[in-house]
Amino acid sequence: MDVYLASPRGFCAGVDLAVDIVQLAIEQYGTPVYVKHQIVHNPKVVADVEAMGAITVEQVSDVPEDAVVVFSAHGSPPSDYQIARDRRLTVLDATCPLVTRVHNEAKKYANEGKKIVLVGHDGHQEVIGTTGQTEMELVDERGDWKLPDWDEGTEVAVLTQTTLSVRDTAAAVNRIREIHPSAIVRNDICYATTNRQAAATELSELTEMVLVIGAQNSSNCNRLKDVAINKGIPAYLINGPEELDYSWLAGITRVGITSGASTPEKQVRAVIDAINPDNVFRVGPGEEKTTFAIPRGLRSMVGDGRRASKSDTEPG
Ligand code: SF4
Repeated sequence: MDVYLASPRGFCAGVDLAVDIVQLAIEQYGTPVYVKHQIVHNPKVVADVEAMGAITVEQVSDVPEDAVVVFSAHGSPPSDYQIARDRRLTVLDATCPLVTRVHNEAKKYANEGKKIVLVGHDGHQEVIGTTGQTEMELVDERGDWKLPDWDEGTEVAVLTQTTLSVRDTAAAVNRIREIHPSAIVRNDICYATTNRQAAATELSELTEMVLVIGAQNSSNCNRLKDVAINKGIPAYLINGPEELDYSWLAGITRVGITSGASTPEKQVRAVIDAINPDNVFRVGPGEEKTTFAIPRGLRSMVGDGRRASKSDTEPG
């Protein structure tokens, strides 16, 4: 059997940055450091930072007063920052800069008096953070949706969650444009999501089955699985070899493997080792060069941007 391995796959710059911030926070402040929400949507990454001394909580109100808390990569609503101030918390904000950009777009368009539409998945942590920035309508393209009957001539700006399906988002945006032809549309799907979906598309054209390595609650992992299924081949989302059902591989000679932006490379390696293929071929646009420095506002708190080890993210 041959494995076709997507490139790029795995950790993106935003996830690297978030994990680094937790590590640097622990070095600077000692343990425990609290993390509001899973730092990224991957249980093994969460377990790794918890082994270093982080404690994951779901609500800021769960963090003891005067403690240190890292806000996760997905972004947070302003109400979370207010609760943190009320509790005298030291906040280290690990929101991905590409999510912060969406927050800033939302505030800018709201100040300009535009109606804002966010294409995103109801309940996802990133959407909770973005919808908290200002008033907006949520379009969840997975189900039926309808926009309010805004007056003709209403100026509309359309934003998107960063980790959506490129294909499904385009369909939703086209429908919005039919209703509001002059709507400003921002393509907020991030480079990492776009590149991983492009690689998964190529992978699906070359293989008979795709394994996506990552967590069930990871939006971008689920979208990679959707890419393969939309191409008409079976796809499975698994955390690692312990969830691999070998009956899926029966009669398969070419299996595609990819991983989401929150998946450590060691989980991919473990699955490849378990399959023990004859050959491994790389497929896709190739590795990315994007990195994010520690934000200026955090450097005085955790250092000058000395980055933690990225060995876990390097392709083998
Ligand atoms: S998937 Fe995109 S938006 Fe999310 S953390 Fe990575 S780079 Fe940032």
